[in-house]
Amino acid sequence: MNRLLFAPALLLGLAAPAFAQDALRVGDVSAARGTKVTGAIHVPDGVDRGLDIPVSVVHGKEAGKTLALIAGTHGYEYTSILALQRLLPELDPLKMKGSVILVHMANPETFFARRIYVSSDGKNLNRVYPGRKDGTISERIAEAITREVIDQATNVIDMHSGDGNESLRPYSYWMTGNDPMVDAQSKELNLAYGLDHIVIDHDRPKDVKDSRYTAMTGVLRGKPSITAESGGLGRTDEASIEIHHKGALSVINHLGIMAAPSVKVTNPVWIDRSEVLTSPATGVWEPAIDQKDAVVAGSLVGRVKDSAGKILGEVRAPFAGVMLYVVGTPPITKGEPVGFVGRVRADER
Ligand SMILES: [Zn+2]
Repeated sequence: MNRLLFAPALLLGLAAPAFAQDALRVGDVSAARGTKVTGAIHVPDGVDRGLDIPVSVVHGKEAGKTLALIAGTHGYEYTSILALQRLLPELDPLKMKGSVILVHMANPETFFARRIYVSSDGKNLNRVYPGRKDGTISERIAEAITREVIDQATNVIDMHSGDGNESLRPYSYWMTGNDPMVDAQSKELNLAYGLDHIVIDHDRPKDVKDSRYTAMTGVLRGKPSITAESGGLGRTDEASIEIHHKGALSVINHLGIMAAPSVKVTNPVWIDRSEVLTSPATGVWEPAIDQKDAVVAGSLVGRVKDSAGKILGEVRAPFAGVMLYVVGTPPITKGEPVGFVGRVRADER
């Protein structure tokens, strides 16, 4: 309580290191060095209703890297949200050199409404970064997270799973930008997170003003960042939650913020070509395979039927590889994703 009163005295005292006083402020949270505080980033009402994004700040006793862990960008992807609940009590700011910002639920509106893909404005939060203050709710959330979280971090991990309709194998994205140094460190972050399939993606936006994705917003601002996926179908299974929990701890260790068990992979399966497969028709989706299945070119991924069961169309794999996710529930609209296929890099085939 008296920290503010003591601060000027400490500034005068030559023995006190200069960083002892600097608080880390995120939204309404102000965490002094060596403390852990939970609060919210307030997104005010605008053209539509605002909301509060729940955040915790664990500000290490000593200065170091600042890792942003962003959960619940898609509110039906529960594993990331539950993983951060486990992680928070394990972070000891008195043992930390550096800090961790935990965004517990980036899009609470989609969580409570049980929405997949999009917010009430019809926009996907992970496509509207860096957002805008005068935009609709997805854009205002993106603007607030960019300003309060990403701009204050040195590294960003955007944590996802398959959405409520997607059966997914754990994998992460190594997304490259304009700076080879950042790209090299993003690669190391992927390895540190420990997922054994890593999608190499050189085709994301390269314009910082139109970064679209959460993790690309970090990459294009010079902050090594990744997107990590574990879980799906609205499930809260232990294994999928633990993958995110252990991965986050491993990155905290990798960045030198706090000692924690490493789950680093040295020889992951690199996916050097990937393609989202889409539905040829609106109807009832019937998958023929699941995630983790290998495919050859022409393998049947699934069929779309009308509501009486007549086949309207089918989806086949365009090249040999592995499935990363497959839509696992029946409703499907023409043009929507039904699966994601990845080709294993040649030297590993
Ligand atoms: Zn997602």
